[in-house]
Amino acid sequence: MKTVMFVALFMTSSLSADELPALPAFARVRAASQAHDGQAVAALKRFYEGRALIVGDFRSTNDALALADAIEAAGGRIDQIVNDRALVGFIPAAIDEFVRHAPGVRFFSRIPVVDLTAVPFNDDEGVRGAVRHFNRTLDGSVLRDLMTSEFLPPDRDVIVAPESSVPVVSTQDVHAQAAVRNVSMTGRIGITFHFVESNGAIDADEFTWTPADRGTIITRAQDGYDWWQSQANARGKSILYTIRFLSTPGNAQEYEPYEPIRHPVNHKSYLWVNPIMANFGYTMTDPDQEIQALRRVDAYNEALRATINAQATFSVFVIYNPSPAPTTHTDGFYTLTYFGGPWMDHPFRPGGYPTSSWGWVLAHEMAHVFWACDEYAPVCTTCSYCFPGQGPRPTTPNGNCDNPCNTTPTACIMRIVNPSQPVCSYTATQIGW
Ligand SMILES: [Zn+2]
Repeated sequence: MKTVMFVALFMTSSLSADELPALPAFARVRAASQAHDGQAVAALKRFYEGRALIVGDFRSTNDALALADAIEAAGGRIDQIVNDRALVGFIPAAIDEFVRHAPGVRFFSRIPVVDLTAVPFNDDEGVRGAVRHFNRTLDGSVLRDLMTSEFLPPDRDVIVAPESSVPVVSTQDVHAQAAVRNVSMTGRIGITFHFVESNGAIDADEFTWTPADRGTIITRAQDGYDWWQSQANARGKSILYTIRFLSTPGNAQEYEPYEPIRHPVNHKSYLWVNPIMANFGYTMTDPDQEIQALRRVDAYNEALRATINAQATFSVFVIYNPSPAPTTHTDGFYTLTYFGGPWMDHPFRPGGYPTSSWGWVLAHEMAHVFWACDEYAPVCTTCSYCFPGQGPRPTTPNGNCDNPCNTTPTACIMRIVNPSQPVCSYTATQIGW
C-alpha cells in the first residue's frame, strides 16, 4: 500500500531523478505493508545450511581463492573471502578433515564462536566482522531481522556516470571502456569498502570512525551481499565475493582532507574519492573532477578484478556521520550509486535508516551496480528501461515499475526493500540472471 503523502507530493512531477530534490529522509523509513511471504526466507535458510567458518594465514587473495576452488572441487562452496583471512561457506561434513589440514588453514568452526581471542588474526576487523556475522547466521539473528525489515529504498539514489572526452592515457585507464562493466551479478565479485576518514587538512576533523561503528557496518554489510547470494543460489547461480574492508590507521590511503557529510554528494563525491584514489597510486587526471574520480576508481577496481580474475568489481565509500551529524549530505542526498558502478557512497547513518537496515540498503544499491532500475514512484515513470542506451541490456523492460503502466506491481527489492520477498523477474533479468 502506498502512502498518501508520498504520492501526493510527486504525482505531478515530470523531472528526472537527477533534477528532483531529495525527499526528506524520514519519509523512507516506514512499513509498506507487504507480506513477509517466506520464499526468500526459505532460500536464505537453505543457503546457510552446512555453513562453516575458516580463518587462515594465506599469502594472497589468490591463495585463498585456490582453497575455495579446492573446497568446491570436493563438493563444498565458499561464498565469501574477507580480507584474505576469513572464508565462509557451505562445507560438507565429509570434507572437514580435508579443510582443517589444507595449506594455511588455522581455524575452522561449524558452531558460533564464543571466544574471539581463540580466532587467529582477530586484530583484523574484517575477520572480527566475519566471525560476528557467522554467529548471527547460526543463532537466527539474520533471519529474524529479515522477517521484520521493510522500508522504501533510498530516494533518488542512482546517477549515470559521465564519460570522458580525454583519450586513454595508459593501460590502467579503463574508464573509456567501462560502459559495460559489471555485466552480471555472478561468478567472482570483488568489493572494496573504503572507510573514509578526514584528516583535518582542509575541513575541521569533526568525526573519527570508532572501531565499534566500523564493526557494526562490516557485520551488517554481510546481510546485504548474503541475501543476493541466497537469491542467486535459489536460481542455480553462484557468486563468490572477495571483500576488502579498508580503514585507518592501517590503511592510511583512506585519509582525505574533507568531512564528507558537510558537502554535497550528487555528482560531487569526487571531493573525497580523488584524494583517496591518489593515495592508492591512481593519479590520472581529467578536466572534469568527477570524471577524474571515475577514471581513478575504474582503474582501482580493474586492478583488483585482474588480480583475482573476477567478473565484476565495485567500491563502497562509507561516510562517517555519527549522531549528532546530519544523516544527509548538504544537497539532501545520502546513499548514491553510479549506474553500473564503479562506486557508491553509503553513509554510516544513511538518511535516518536504522543501522539494522544498512545491509539491506546496500543490497538495493548493489542491484544498481549491476544495472538494475528503481521501481518506486515517482522515480520510476515507465515500464521501459530506466536509462535507455546505458549498460549491457539497455532495452530490458522495467515491468514492475510502480506506475500506471503496471497496476499490480509486486514487492521487489527495487520497489520496496522487504528481504523476505524474492527478487522479481524484471530485476533478475536486469542484473544478468
Ligand atoms: Zn535505488
